[in-house]
Amino acid sequence: MWDLLLKGGQVVDPVNGINDVMDVAIEDGRVAAVGKDLVGKTKAIEDCSGLIVMPGVIDCHLHLGSTFGGPNGMRMAALSGVTSCIDMAGPLGDILAHGHTDGAGLNVAIMDCFYPTQAYGVHHPTRAQVADYIDRMTAGGAIGIKLIGGHFPLPVETCRDMIELCYEKHHFVAWHAGSDTSKSDIDGMREAVETAAGLPLHLAHVNSYCRGRVRAPEQEAAEAIELLKANPNIFSDAYLSPLNGTMIDANDDGSLPDFVTRCCLEIFKLPVNADGMREAFKRGLLFIMKEGRGVTDIVGGTEGLAIWEAAGGKGMGCFTVNPAVSRLMLAQAKRDDGSFVVDSISTDGGVVPRNVIVPMGINLVKFGALTLPEFVHKASVAGARYLRIKDRGHLSVGAVADITIVDYSRSQAVETIVSGCVNMKNGQLYGQGMRVITSEVGAKAVRDKGHEAIVVDMTDMKVCR
Ligand SMILES: [Zn+2]
Repeated sequence: MWDLLLKGGQVVDPVNGINDVMDVAIEDGRVAAVGKDLVGKTKAIEDCSGLIVMPGVIDCHLHLGSTFGGPNGMRMAALSGVTSCIDMAGPLGDILAHGHTDGAGLNVAIMDCFYPTQAYGVHHPTRAQVADYIDRMTAGGAIGIKLIGGHFPLPVETCRDMIELCYEKHHFVAWHAGSDTSKSDIDGMREAVETAAGLPLHLAHVNSYCRGRVRAPEQEAAEAIELLKANPNIFSDAYLSPLNGTMIDANDDGSLPDFVTRCCLEIFKLPVNADGMREAFKRGLLFIMKEGRGVTDIVGGTEGLAIWEAAGGKGMGCFTVNPAVSRLMLAQAKRDDGSFVVDSISTDGGVVPRNVIVPMGINLVKFGALTLPEFVHKASVAGARYLRIKDRGHLSVGAVADITIVDYSRSQAVETIVSGCVNMKNGQLYGQGMRVITSEVGAKAVRDKGHEAIVVDMTDMKVCR
């Protein structure tokens, strides 16, 4: 007997070529049947008429750990319609610890961020130290390592070591472009792509290198597209929000430690110091993140500035720094074979309140920039393939029943189902804990910490599309 029958929704499953009004039956956490007017014994029926039923949304770039705000991220991602995600900074131990209470029912892959000054007390670690870090984090459950050069630069040699060693050791590696010799911009992106030199690399949030810092945003986006077309070894994500997310601390002398924050002020032609920050708040270009009840909000203007000053000029913030033209170009661009140049629509959200894959993605469909199956491909299929979670990202019979249900008219996710159980419905969270997507070497640590492990095959390191 089926556990649940989703009746009469617009089922969009590009892997199986389905985009039609159909029913989906779920049993024992898996898809039991898909078809028109299914008849069978079921414990529950849900009327999905007028709604889109798609494979669960997979956010290939968000933040769930304390580094970028706090533990609200899982809750906020789950409420937005996400079922699986890649955390892009960790800290690993922090996420594994608070996942029990704050997990919100998500499937989470963790890319731990490499800070050699913290881990080894050096800015330029040896290759042996890089290898040691990879071994320790992946044995602890991380699926790979994130280089966060855009915010906190490292030597290019260190980034190259990391990419080579992750390849040799069969783990993922991601890079927020930027290094000792480049910034978080289109030139930094070119350097990252060249440094990878054909090896697999997840290039984070391509849109953030197309903000018009070096050349016009549309020209930068065109360059980014050409770079990615020429380098299929690069998996990439881009997000759709106009807001970025960055550390907005100011030092006592008014200088700013975070390189992304400095770049933003440069783009707005404001002084690169605390006074520039004050002006950015006043002009509505900068918002500060503020803890709400279980979610994080952003506050701008004089109120935001007052919060920032009261916190001693410290906090996490968002600049309205992502031009529409580059976001649109990167969302649409295709290779000659028809596949997307930028693999997935991400959020870089989680704790940063911009979990807008569904609202902004559906608005792109309404705008005519993407078809509905194309949106589903970028929002779910691409992430499942990249993560090698082979029984997710589609609704084949036998696939894990991870499903996102979307109200097209409101451009909103109204329900998610994870492993056959309702995880979120109408803004209410039901899911608890988390499953951790990890490789063979991390599975034991994940289970020892009391989480279910989704173990993926990393034998072949070629980027899976
Ligand atoms: Zn990020």
